[in-house]
Amino acid sequence: MKSPSQTNAIDFDSAKLQRLGFGQQPRILERPVSLAQVRQQLVLQLQTSLEPQRILGLFFREIQRLVPLDALSYQHKASDLRLEFGQRGHHSISYSLSHEGEHLGELTFRRNQRFTEQEQGNLESLLSALLFPMRNALLYRVATQSALRDPLTDTGNRVAMDQTLQREIDMSRRHLQPLSLLMLDIDHFKRINDTHGHSAGDEVLKAVAASIKGQLRNVDMVFRYGGEEFLILLSNTGREAAAMIGERLRFATQAQEYQADGKSIELTVSLGCSTLLPGESAESLLRRADSALYVAKREGRNRLAMAG
Ligand code: GH3
Ligand code: MG
Ligand code: MG
Repeated sequence: MKSPSQTNAIDFDSAKLQRLGFGQQPRILERPVSLAQVRQQLVLQLQTSLEPQRILGLFFREIQRLVPLDALSYQHKASDLRLEFGQRGHHSISYSLSHEGEHLGELTFRRNQRFTEQEQGNLESLLSALLFPMRNALLYRVATQSALRDPLTDTGNRVAMDQTLQREIDMSRRHLQPLSLLMLDIDHFKRINDTHGHSAGDEVLKAVAASIKGQLRNVDMVFRYGGEEFLILLSNTGREAAAMIGERLRFATQAQEYQADGKSIELTVSLGCSTLLPGESAESLLRRADSALYVAKREGRNRLAMAG
């Protein structure tokens, strides 16, 4: 039986875009067009996306109807964004984009042939069509990224963790690579709060997160799992290597200086480690790390326990 949602799921958007001439066919070889025409096309096309990658890809393609290029690169330091299109060329022109004092990134156009004055003028004129789409895309990026972060410790939050864990499990299966998980919990953290106050506790949490991130190559894999509990995903890492990394984290967090009211605080952590089994679910992998952590606590804390 045909479900109503299937019947309605005509690819209206792409059909309509195709009719309007927004299809994917290459346009670079088309006859030369006027600056006004290209700019009008750009305005229409660039507002169809909120992804910087897509917006700049469309921009790179469209402007070449007027100014042939070898490469376009874009960088926005504040949001740690770098994008490259095409190959490198000998000559380059760079522009810094900004709107009402807000920095929107640096663009560099490259090619092997020198740019003429007229081409430079055209590029500058076309850049204005990029301003608002890029600003919107950058704002959208900030909004979606902050929805996945824990603001106190600047680690991933639960939502990010769930997404990343499932993605890493799929990758691990596809590439037949091991995947391990560390669950780290601060020992007697309640005492730190009780003795020094909640805001001192917050500072300690921040410092522990920084210490963990300082030990890892991929800081995107650190998540705040609970109040004073962190989860570290180790891709392409088997059981023994994960145990070594876990011990390294235990030493590093213990060696770190923690202070409250000018006094230094001693702190240790306990860890549970699990490695993905064939066919295992995310829930089960998490549960086994949690059980191992419980064992580490029961056996005296300040130690790492491996899941069975
Ligand atoms: P254990 O060694 O068994 O882990 O003992 P613990 O005291 O660390 O564990 P417990 O789970 O009993 O207490 C955790 C404490 O962490 C309780 C809670 O007040 C505190 N906590 C949770 N989230 C935060 C936070 O965001 N900031 C601060 N300052 N404290 C928090
Ligand atoms: Mg604890
Ligand atoms: Mg805890």
